[in-house]
Amino acid sequence: MNGDDHLETCKKNIDCADVVISGISIIKKGDVVSVNKPKELDQKDFYEGNPGWQGSNTFVKSKLLEEVGGYDENLLCCHDRDIAIRILNKKPNISFTNKVTVNFHLGTNRESLTTSEYGKWTGLLQFFSKHREDMNKVMIKKFKSRSKNLFNMNLKLFDLLNIKNEYPGFKNKPTIDGNIIKKGLYKSYLNFRIKIGQWRAKNHFTKIFGRKYEISRDKMEIDLTYKCNLRCKGCNRSCEQAPDDIELPIDYIEKFVNRSIKREIEWKKIRLLGGEPTMHSKIQEILYLLADYKEFYPRSRLEIVTNGQGRRVIRNLLKVPPFFHIEENKKQSDDVYFYPFNLAPIDLTQLKNIDFRNGCSNLEECGISLTPLGYYPCAISGGIDRIAGWNIGRKKIPKEDDEMTDILEKACPYCGRFIQRIFVPRNIDLGYNPAKKSKSWRRLYKRWRKEHQNISKKLKS
Ligand code: SF4
Ligand code: SF4
Repeated sequence: MNGDDHLETCKKNIDCADVVISGISIIKKGDVVSVNKPKELDQKDFYEGNPGWQGSNTFVKSKLLEEVGGYDENLLCCHDRDIAIRILNKKPNISFTNKVTVNFHLGTNRESLTTSEYGKWTGLLQFFSKHREDMNKVMIKKFKSRSKNLFNMNLKLFDLLNIKNEYPGFKNKPTIDGNIIKKGLYKSYLNFRIKIGQWRAKNHFTKIFGRKYEISRDKMEIDLTYKCNLRCKGCNRSCEQAPDDIELPIDYIEKFVNRSIKREIEWKKIRLLGGEPTMHSKIQEILYLLADYKEFYPRSRLEIVTNGQGRRVIRNLLKVPPFFHIEENKKQSDDVYFYPFNLAPIDLTQLKNIDFRNGCSNLEECGISLTPLGYYPCAISGGIDRIAGWNIGRKKIPKEDDEMTDILEKACPYCGRFIQRIFVPRNIDLGYNPAKKSKSWRRLYKRWRKEHQNISKKLKS
């Protein structure tokens, strides 16, 4: 068997054929583990396994390949089976050479996206999600039992793909379209609401009406890491201002899952953020630990929020199993829509006599948070604590009666979100400079730069 022989043999079979398939022998560590000489192929067999169609032993006319859209780059594995199904759908003329002319060496040392068990599981779940509608009950049963027998897959993972009854995600955040007048009017309306909000947070109004925003108890945001491939100006986790590679230890996730189940907490939504969450070195293990939680609470919605930028992040996104929702925020380092995170309210004269325990709308909309430093009323306060070094995060999931107002009192005076306190649509520019740092922040960053190496060491130990 050699390359010339293979090409010649296939060439002889090309007349009138759209697809030519030769025999193939699979070799692992020098031993032939199987020999396959396909004689006929049925589309339905590809739903259950691969009866002998691989990129290495198949020629397809380029016109036909183009017609079916080529390989699916969104799958982690099963590319051959997927493309075979789509090509066979077109009822092509297939010619079989009936001769083994390809040696396929199964690599065992090279690292690939499906090297780990989790990678293979994710690939199978992606394939299953894509083709489930066309599979009958028998095919589904065979697909699942093959996944279990060959790849030790937990079959309950397939149930997690049923997301019909999940709690809803965020409503689409509105952007305000229209001419300058419409946008100008909307800006005036927002500025008015912001002003009212600032008055509402004054000490005396808070004494009368109580705190404005309550902490949400059924949504959880998890900052997996402060690593990020971007450096957005005014990043509200300080990834640009104070870059660090801190990661949430994996046992924090284990404890979070176990304690949530033990305390019977049904999170309506668990969102993974950062930094760029896909850059966590154990991202796949984390995604599957959260699958354990979803097995208990199938209505819980799992989300991962990514900037979706750059080759590494795009490649890592392939590792996200389809029981997660991927939200791409498409942030760019030079975006101007960021609010002025580093404009500390305590540095502003118009924000005097404020009760910072009022917090902002994030408390209700986003939920409480787990960060590498512990639990916080919102993820941003955890990010502020990373820089300030107060170490005020809770070490366990906060109890229902823990309002965490001590954390709000410490963190909100530094948080530029407190100036607006409400959602401002992305395309409305209220005239703030997101890169601006007021004096308190300049002081915090200066101190952090001096001390951060010690803090990182302590967190990692
Ligand atoms: S992508 Fe997000 S986390 Fe990364 S620097 Fe930009 S705002 Fe910060
Ligand atoms: S720290 Fe910022 S985001 Fe969190 S509640 Fe306070 S103002 Fe809102």
